[in-house]
Amino acid sequence: MFRMSRRQYITTAIDYPNAAPHMGHVLEKVLADVCARWFRLRGDEVRFQIGTDEHGVKIARKAQEESLLPKELVDRNVPLFQELYARLGIQYDVFVRTTDQEQHWPTVTALWQKLRDAGRLEKRSYTGLYCSGCERFLTKKDLEAGKCLIHKVEPEKVMEENYFFSLSKDTDWLSALLAADGGYTMIPKFRASETLSLIEQGLEDVSFSRPRSSLNWGIPVPDDPDHVMYVWCDALTNYISGLGFFTDREDRAFWDDAEVTHVIGKDIARFHALIWPAMLRHAGVRPPDRLLIHGFLTSEGEKMSKSLGNVVAPQDVIEKYGVDALRFYLSHEVPVGRDGDFAWGRFSELYDSVLRNKLGNLLQRTLVLLGKDGSAVQAPPEQFWPESYGAIWQEYTDGLDAYDMSRVLQLSVRKMEVCNAFIDANEPWKKSAEDRKAVLGALAENLRHISLMLLPFIPETAQKISTQLNVPYAKKMLEKDFVITPEMKQWGSQKAWKKVGEPAILFPKVE
Ligand SMILES: [Zn+2]
Repeated sequence: MFRMSRRQYITTAIDYPNAAPHMGHVLEKVLADVCARWFRLRGDEVRFQIGTDEHGVKIARKAQEESLLPKELVDRNVPLFQELYARLGIQYDVFVRTTDQEQHWPTVTALWQKLRDAGRLEKRSYTGLYCSGCERFLTKKDLEAGKCLIHKVEPEKVMEENYFFSLSKDTDWLSALLAADGGYTMIPKFRASETLSLIEQGLEDVSFSRPRSSLNWGIPVPDDPDHVMYVWCDALTNYISGLGFFTDREDRAFWDDAEVTHVIGKDIARFHALIWPAMLRHAGVRPPDRLLIHGFLTSEGEKMSKSLGNVVAPQDVIEKYGVDALRFYLSHEVPVGRDGDFAWGRFSELYDSVLRNKLGNLLQRTLVLLGKDGSAVQAPPEQFWPESYGAIWQEYTDGLDAYDMSRVLQLSVRKMEVCNAFIDANEPWKKSAEDRKAVLGALAENLRHISLMLLPFIPETAQKISTQLNVPYAKKMLEKDFVITPEMKQWGSQKAWKKVGEPAILFPKVE
């Protein structure tokens, strides 16, 4: 059955541009881009949004260190993110900057007012334990032996008057929302159990503002100039400010009709699971549908950190191996929800064994052999091939629909292996012209399917394969409205495909 067109609204976390983007940013954007591309390829109407979270003490402090204004710092750093994502082929539709006073602030201010009007924001004086590394007050759960779990330092005792969001009153509503079939799904599932147990331990109200004296670089609290919004209302709201919520350019229908997916890291999952839907609730907006949660990336088995000197710059990997090799590595090696590792040795091994040999050589051999026979191509009857592409495409679709990217990519690699084994077993160069035509036609047809299967993951390579094969739709494959039709998934369906093109190297040897 051809899927009816439906709407998808997919977002990533917004990046903190106090420094250049790192591999963790890339992991998340590639994951979201693979999802967005898959949604489009199956025929959905997609809106994919990313952005930058540009306020807060860390940005202000960093700017001061560099003798810049905070706005100058973010204006310098944000393009580093945008350029890297453009280079990586992250096909987003909207980029939100939280310093954007026209696109972002009106929604934030309106949301704040709605929460206040609903009686959910209350000014209280508060003494708490503040970690300057975390830029927030810590709760019992954040402490171990009196020290911040993340920064391993004792937090300071600080007294402040802040606005508090009454999250504790939403306890029952949130339990119901996050329970199985409650409407807000967390992938992987174990994150939902973790979050439900947090709720059981009791939710605390959340500090939503800071006095201007301690946080100057942020969005002002409406009607209270001594206070500045803290990260929650400022940053989380990007997910609806991109749709112009509560302004005259509001596209609320898109949010209401779409499946709303937030792609985020495991460290911020609980804020997205608890604070965000509760904020929306009191502003009269329906909750999102799904949180897709990724783990962290280590480097050679260790936490990536400047002090260990093992930070991998995405640009270095791209310089050496190319964009698609990096996209392939991350999707192949890091199953959604789990932590992954970046290791140069493993990278080189996958590059050589899969991309160069299993894929590149397969295409090269097939095209060279077909070229010797005049480049004519025709898929033999489907029975000729030992596997059924009906079943393969079903497994592929089910896997991607379940966000099981790594398994799906491995499925494509297995198809390459079957083809390579088929060449070795059949030795087409020793066959009669008629038999050789069938063997090589079958290999070319397999490569046509493999190229479609690789399209969400390594789009440029996928198109190159189809272009070399000279498949009729190859030119259109990178367009946003390109859909993998049921016809394309059928064996031998491309009747207009008569000849293959010239082989060219997909992945060069890297020393
Ligand atoms: Zn801390």
